[in-house]
Amino acid sequence: MLRLKNIKKNYVMADNTVEALKGVDISFRKNEFVSILGPSGCGKTTLLNIIGGLDKYTSGDLLIKNVSTKEYNDRDWDTYRNHSIGFVFQSYNLIPHQTVLGNVEIALTLSGVSKHERKERAIKALQEVGLGDQIYKRPNALSGGQMQRVAIARALVNNPDIILADEPTGALDTVTSVQVMEILKEVSKNRLVIMVTHNPELAEKYSTRIIKMLDGNILSDSNPLTKEEEQELEKQEKPVKNKKEKKPTMSFFTAFKLSLRNLFTKKGRTILTSFAGSIGIIGIALILSVSKGMTTYINQVQETTLSSYPITLESTTIDLSELIASMMNQGENGNQHENDAIYKDPIIAELVTALSKVEANENDLKAFKKYLEEQMTLDGSALNMSVSGVQYTYNMNLAIYTKNIDGDIIKSDINELMQDMIADFMMQVSANGSGFDSSASSSMTSNPMMSMMMTGTKLWQELLPGVKEGETINK
Ligand code: ADP
Ligand code: MG
Repeated sequence: MLRLKNIKKNYVMADNTVEALKGVDISFRKNEFVSILGPSGCGKTTLLNIIGGLDKYTSGDLLIKNVSTKEYNDRDWDTYRNHSIGFVFQSYNLIPHQTVLGNVEIALTLSGVSKHERKERAIKALQEVGLGDQIYKRPNALSGGQMQRVAIARALVNNPDIILADEPTGALDTVTSVQVMEILKEVSKNRLVIMVTHNPELAEKYSTRIIKMLDGNILSDSNPLTKEEEQELEKQEKPVKNKKEKKPTMSFFTAFKLSLRNLFTKKGRTILTSFAGSIGIIGIALILSVSKGMTTYINQVQETTLSSYPITLESTTIDLSELIASMMNQGENGNQHENDAIYKDPIIAELVTALSKVEANENDLKAFKKYLEEQMTLDGSALNMSVSGVQYTYNMNLAIYTKNIDGDIIKSDINELMQDMIADFMMQVSANGSGFDSSASSSMTSNPMMSMMMTGTKLWQELLPGVKEGETINK
């Protein structure tokens, strides 16, 4: 059933190696109650862990159902632990926030059994250890002996072939120890029970075989296998591992339920965590909404501001790029000379020359007006969508007359005023002789740029057509 062949276990540490097992040979029968005795540190726990697949041997071989485990991979060990072994520890290892029933059921969650069957089997196992009426209690409401019985029920519920118990009565008084031993004895009737204990009397009284250990070696064995039994096992030995065993599985629903239960038992922490989390999320949402609102606001302001500056197309247009280029050049070329003398930098003269070079082009406004009118009446056209109004201005100035402060009747027109002012200004500049050539100054008033500036500044402007109800200015 279970055979250890010259098992050695070394714990390698930084500065030394501990030989916990120094070559252990034991064969176990299918049904027996084995007690392992020995002083502390002789390797009992190590042996049990290796038998249970919780630890790997350094050398030798462990045969499970007559199959060598030398080729076992992690999955094989998982399967073995989950389906063939039940563990009972001195410290019970119960989950405090699960009920007694939950603690036993959990051992079945990895076996892929239905929820209903899990509960049924868990209750049955708890009844077998005499705890049928305590199944909804929490572990900390139980005595030590009761907790150890829950642990035994948990070990039994999978119906394993082997129960491994490491000092199960180590923390119990004599009376409760006896209860636990009785249960283990009952259990051993149809399985292999291997128990580590410090108590020789209990071992003597309940177990069918006592193995004494010392310093990683077997000292004595009260009931070893007979020659015939050993030979029988030798014959049954199979060369390859059997891979057909059921794999451990945990359904998604089970995992979900377990974690949900976990969340609820740690209510305080869960609430705090979600509270802290939500503060973070709300903070980010606030910042996002403020910044989004800000962007929207800026866009709105931009739109309203820009829409109050209409695009103006005139019958004559001028290209200002040359003028702007000359202005830019001024700033850049200003310092690009040797610092050995004083150089001439006729900024104003160049500007004026550039200004005089500005040319006027004629626009075909007639065709454009036709195009505009067509587009604006077309529903859904790009122009119709984005233009809130078109205004046509004709080359006609309103002649409005008014009285000035002296009582004289004057024309309320800015053009004449401007022309007068410019003429005065030019006269003064050329009189001071500041680098203008006279042709530039005389061309000023007839310059297309100047005339545009003057005609552009009209005192009297036609209003845009009214906006229809329901429409916004910024279409
Ligand atoms: P027992 O259960 O008989 O008291 P153990 O099997 O726990 O003894 O330990 C056997 C020896 O192996 C001891 O000397 C112990 O210090 C050593 N040992 C056990 N586990 C480890 C480990 N994980 N790392 C290093 N040494 C260990
Ligand atoms: Mg131990």
